[in-house]
Amino acid sequence: MEYEAVIGLETHVQLKTKSKMWCGCANSFGAPPNTHVCPVCLGLPGVLPVANEEALRLTVLTGFLLNCEIPPRAKFDRKNYFYPDMPKNYQITQYDQPSTANGWAEFEFNGGISRVRITRAHLEEDVGKNFHFERNSGVDFNRAGVPLMEIVSEPDLTSADMAYAYLNALLEILRYGNISDGDMEKGMVRCDVNVSVRPKGTKELGAKIEIKNMNSFSGVRRALEYEIPRQIEVLNKGGKLIQSTRRWDDTTGVTEEMRTKEHAHDYRYFPDPDLMPFAPTEQWLAEVKSRVIELPLVRKQRFMREYGLPASDAETFKNDVPLGNYFEGIAKQTKQAKAVANWVINNLRAKLAEANAKEIAEQAALGIHPDDMKLQTLEYMKFKIEQLLELVHLVEAKAISSSAAQQVFAEMFETGKSPTAIVQEKGLAQVSDTGAIEKFCDEAIATNPKSVADYKAGKVAALNALKGQVMKLSQGKANPALAGEILEKKLKS
Ligand SMILES: [Zn+2]
Repeated sequence: MEYEAVIGLETHVQLKTKSKMWCGCANSFGAPPNTHVCPVCLGLPGVLPVANEEALRLTVLTGFLLNCEIPPRAKFDRKNYFYPDMPKNYQITQYDQPSTANGWAEFEFNGGISRVRITRAHLEEDVGKNFHFERNSGVDFNRAGVPLMEIVSEPDLTSADMAYAYLNALLEILRYGNISDGDMEKGMVRCDVNVSVRPKGTKELGAKIEIKNMNSFSGVRRALEYEIPRQIEVLNKGGKLIQSTRRWDDTTGVTEEMRTKEHAHDYRYFPDPDLMPFAPTEQWLAEVKSRVIELPLVRKQRFMREYGLPASDAETFKNDVPLGNYFEGIAKQTKQAKAVANWVINNLRAKLAEANAKEIAEQAALGIHPDDMKLQTLEYMKFKIEQLLELVHLVEAKAISSSAAQQVFAEMFETGKSPTAIVQEKGLAQVSDTGAIEKFCDEAIATNPKSVADYKAGKVAALNALKGQVMKLSQGKANPALAGEILEKKLKS
């Protein structure tokens, strides 16, 4: 029998706020253990939580970006559980009245656009972190109470690769929206995976297996690549799958059963009596809405449509937002958008990287900390965008050859001089004077009898060798198209 996988994901991301969810402690990574703590996030008796409004805004902003409904009222609930990393013995979350619900997200997959429905994005708090040493264990509560958003997808994903593509697209949206730094190395993104299999074409869902606490997207993909065939094999051998929770072991590359699944009632959810339900006003929602950004995929598609760029260029400008904005500032002013993209991606980006590599080495030698280094950025370049535009138009008008244009760009990048001035100064203007080019062609033909013979014997490519000679003799100034025409005429006569 043929089976298909049904996958849903619960993605937890730490929100980018200055302070924690219920107290004023800093939301920052990497401090010495238990230095960002207070009676509230340590769960001491008698304290009262106060909700972080920015965390609520970021959750609702996520809702807007994921096409969710924003219910008129959200509330917070206590989820009871007993682990040492949560000193209150409960976690505050949104159980039956989340801040956002019923949305969807689109992402690129298999050369097309796929869509996954989003059940909800709700707000909760992170827990502390356990450390196990040789003879004892410790808990760091710096992370306890950090705002955590959980984005739950419907089981619309059908393969490991599809889940991987969705997760990357989701994270890209959250980073674009400045909602989360999404740094997986710092544990800011974690994922619970729900996966089952069913006979292909049937509707009923199989027993749901949950793989808990995945901390990398590549891990999610590998776990699914293991787990889906495992489930199919059990069924093929006549076995039965039961709802359970499994752990992924990244070293051995297998999932192992942890426990059969607990049910919602095991957590004894109830409304947190210390926190008022939250009913956003229209003004508040409008303010959050003003922070909605263009989605990465929409941006990519727009760059392809509006500027006629190939997918690879648009992808570059999607991934590097400042570079894309810089490109767009110039591209809007010309019909030569593709030429502008070539300069920005192939030349400008490389020059900037080269200049900054030098800066970094020099400043490091002076003992300057990486955070304090002054680097060249797109905002503070020596030349103006009008000058790049001028260069594009000089090439288009065939006033300079493409190899001369490279020289002009390098000089313009270093000095900020205008391309026209550089062309004059260095004598780079393209020679389109037929008489002058004819002389170069005659010389090339006279000194390269082998290429001439090859051409006459039918090797068309030999013309390029001769053309190369003409360019060399003219120090790169001859109009190559014209040189080609004249050479051809002379060789055929
Ligand atoms: Zn605190």
